[in-house]
Amino acid sequence: MTQLNKHQLIADLARVNQRIDVASEQYQQFNKPRLLAVSKKHPAAKIKIIYEQGHKEFGESYVQEALAKVKALSELNIIWHFIGPIQSNKTRAIAENFSWVQSVDRMKILTRLNNQRPESLPRLNVLLQLKVGDENTKSGASQNEILSMLEAAKNMKGLQVRGLMCIPPPSSDFDEQCDYFLEVWNFYQQLKTANSEIDTLSMGMSGDLEAAIKSGSTMVRVGTDIFGPRV
Ligand SMILES: *Cc1c(COP(=O)(O)O)cnc(C)c1O
Repeated sequence: MTQLNKHQLIADLARVNQRIDVASEQYQQFNKPRLLAVSKKHPAAKIKIIYEQGHKEFGESYVQEALAKVKALSELNIIWHFIGPIQSNKTRAIAENFSWVQSVDRMKILTRLNNQRPESLPRLNVLLQLKVGDENTKSGASQNEILSMLEAAKNMKGLQVRGLMCIPPPSSDFDEQCDYFLEVWNFYQQLKTANSEIDTLSMGMSGDLEAAIKSGSTMVRVGTDIFGPRV
């Protein structure tokens, strides 16, 4: 990593934090969301630079790639979030190496993660991924499926459902972004009212974090605007 790249990375992180501050202030009815730095497709060296700025939470989407980084950075106190699509044969690696999983969208995966979470570790924090904007979205569960998973999770000792994650269809229109997010926020409020351990609403990425903050996000997931384009 050249000095120039390092300074660029630190400046980009600061810019994202500033966008979060400004939006949180502007729409102050909600608390400031926390930032998940999405490091998929970026090397461990970059993660380390962001970590040295005092940032601890990182998101990864591909299991093999993530495991290499978890290992390379094991001496750091990083809180790893898995945010990618989950295949059944990858649940053990996820249950053993992550603190959070944000992309759980079916019962089979939830059950496997619970069974495979090592007893020596604290409960795995789980966000259930809600499908938004129906059409051809491949990932995400319906509201009814989420309610069933949440009910089943009450008897699971290896994990704790903490809330919802969503990835709405891409849109460059602020009001349309807000419409999607508000739909999710409404369902989140319903869950939160009935379940005291629900406290996390993960929504908003590089292109729509302001709309997500306006709509009550408690965690934004930002990749590109911190780390640059993925190669
Ligand atoms: C890649 C990814 C992000 C980050 O997206 P950017 O547009 O690069 O900020 C956020 N959430 C999920 C689930 C992702 O896969």
